[in-house]
Amino acid sequence: VRAEAGGEVAAADSLRRGTAAATPPAGTPAPGAVGAAGARPEVSAADLTWLRGRRWAVPVAGVAPEALRDSYTESRGAGRPHDAIDIPAPLGTPVVAADDGQVLKLFESRGGGRTVYVLAPGGRFVHYYAHLDAYRPGLAEGQPVRRGDQLGTVGASGNARPDAPHLHFALARLDDPKRWWDGTPVNPFPLLRQGAGAR
Ligand SMILES: [Zn+2]
Repeated sequence: VRAEAGGEVAAADSLRRGTAAATPPAGTPAPGAVGAAGARPEVSAADLTWLRGRRWAVPVAGVAPEALRDSYTESRGAGRPHDAIDIPAPLGTPVVAADDGQVLKLFESRGGGRTVYVLAPGGRFVHYYAHLDAYRPGLAEGQPVRRGDQLGTVGASGNARPDAPHLHFALARLDDPKRWWDGTPVNPFPLLRQGAGAR
């Protein structure tokens, strides 16, 4: 998994800063302007309580919470944090919604490949699914999704290693849903682990 170090920089960035391929809307901070060295914004205790109160599904079908590995703080090159967890799975494995929400954006970028941004209920958080092989046919922006609904399939699109398909899953607090690429990252690992032993 180390070998992908550096390969996922843009995937993580596309959530935090929108630096991946496409043209972020005007007003986008320059790469490095947010989240670079130094103080990083944090989510409030109230936000964390809300997140912990949700029921979470592991966003890859057939993967138990116990099988997850916390790769949130691993570096992805140039000292940049991963700010996401990777869930390895065979190509074509269903990617499912980790929680309810609404499809905010379907976005293809050089780093993240085929990605889905889902706005959580209440509009405060976004769930980011990257490196998909394919979208579920019919998936469209604005659609409501329920926890467990299929969004697509696991792949290695973007800068994922072709021989190591996985889902790159990230969670961020959004301060403005119109700025879907720009959020404060939160480690989803403890949340996805909440279901461990419960099934
Ligand atoms: Zn990743």
